[in-house]
Amino acid sequence: MNPVDDTVDLLSAMIRNACVNDGTPDSGGEQRNAGVLLDHLSGTRAEVEVVEPHPGRVSVVFRVPGHDREAPALTLLGHTDVVPADPRTWSQDPFSGAVRDGVVWGRGAIDMLNLTSAMAVVTATVARRSEPLAGDLVFAAVADEEAGSRFGAGWIARNRPELLPWDYALTESAGAHVGSGAVTFTVGEKGSFPRRLHVRGRSGHASMPWGARNAALIAAEAAVRVARHRPAARPDERWEAYVRAQDLPPAATAGLLDPATLDDHLHHLGEAARFGHALTHLTLTPTVVRAGGKLNVIPGTAVVDVDIRALPGQDESEADAELHAALGELKEFITVERLGARTASQSGASRLQDAVAGAVGRCFPDRRLLPSLTAGGTDARFVRERGGTAYGFGLYTSAWDVGRYRRLFHGDDEHVDVESLRLTTDALQDVVESFLGDTR
Ligand SMILES: [Zn+2]
Repeated sequence: MNPVDDTVDLLSAMIRNACVNDGTPDSGGEQRNAGVLLDHLSGTRAEVEVVEPHPGRVSVVFRVPGHDREAPALTLLGHTDVVPADPRTWSQDPFSGAVRDGVVWGRGAIDMLNLTSAMAVVTATVARRSEPLAGDLVFAAVADEEAGSRFGAGWIARNRPELLPWDYALTESAGAHVGSGAVTFTVGEKGSFPRRLHVRGRSGHASMPWGARNAALIAAEAAVRVARHRPAARPDERWEAYVRAQDLPPAATAGLLDPATLDDHLHHLGEAARFGHALTHLTLTPTVVRAGGKLNVIPGTAVVDVDIRALPGQDESEADAELHAALGELKEFITVERLGARTASQSGASRLQDAVAGAVGRCFPDRRLLPSLTAGGTDARFVRERGGTAYGFGLYTSAWDVGRYRRLFHGDDEHVDVESLRLTTDALQDVVESFLGDTR
């Protein structure tokens, strides 16, 4: 069978399994997708380890031993869970995995069951070779990436670190096209400093609102202030390379490179404007607002959760300073709780990046890799925390620009074309063979 046919079949099967992670421990059910992958790799040379930190939250680690103990090993880190999908806002069943006119439809088609499927196909191909490669190839199909990885890569990093070689890894989120000459290559991700605002009001009877300190109103105003706050733009060299690769008119390019005018020129990036904004700013996004419980009671307390993402070089104190500036005098009624803290992580250039550049260049000779950040979190951070090098990988047809690609992450009508699945599978096979086959 052609490798891309296997990738399509695995992707459809995993979409149909609907391993939906809503953040609760009993969701996900990744054991179903683990089963699909175990079947695909059964009867090969791959050694298998299964972990299940919570019932149903199964991760599987396949290791194909190389012949040279000294050669560097490579980890392919693919998650098997997906975020929820609301069928009312999709034009079709989000969990059909249907293949129509060369397109596979369903939740996970882009994030990231497509790449996890390609990883499985490449690993099986290597595990069936009569001649082993030099270094070990490890494919970790992990649970719970969509809710912080506490039952997946994060759990393995803390509890079973010996299962993975942490030196070099490839995971999700790259391979869209920028302008006519570049393909994104993810080398880092933003930091995350989530905060919960506890609002103190004074409760009372709703029939007498005069002079009341209604916590619901304070929470609403806090959320609006946080959302409207505009931290300064912080363009860096990677941003400059990204903008210059866009083939924009000179005035638009100049506007996007000047921190004073950057925001006013983001619209030149079309659908990718939101992504461009995220690449150049600390962002503060209120996501949860809770207040009140009874119609005739003025609420005395309220809660607002704020998702905060920081650029490389921005620490927790900078994130908190922006939050406090946004809240202004409302701070008097608010206590800020720290829900987590993770600074941005990134990896420098390496032999693995060279292998990716070679593979992408063989598919698209006129395009070069464009190292960039990703706005959200991925499992790459666990590799970087252990001192390893991790990148986001993928490869799509030139019909996939950054805007289209980013829109489908957690978006409606998520889909991927079979030709992009072929490109991803072939390029990954190329990377694995060139990186692991070389015994230097
Ligand atoms: Zn993902």
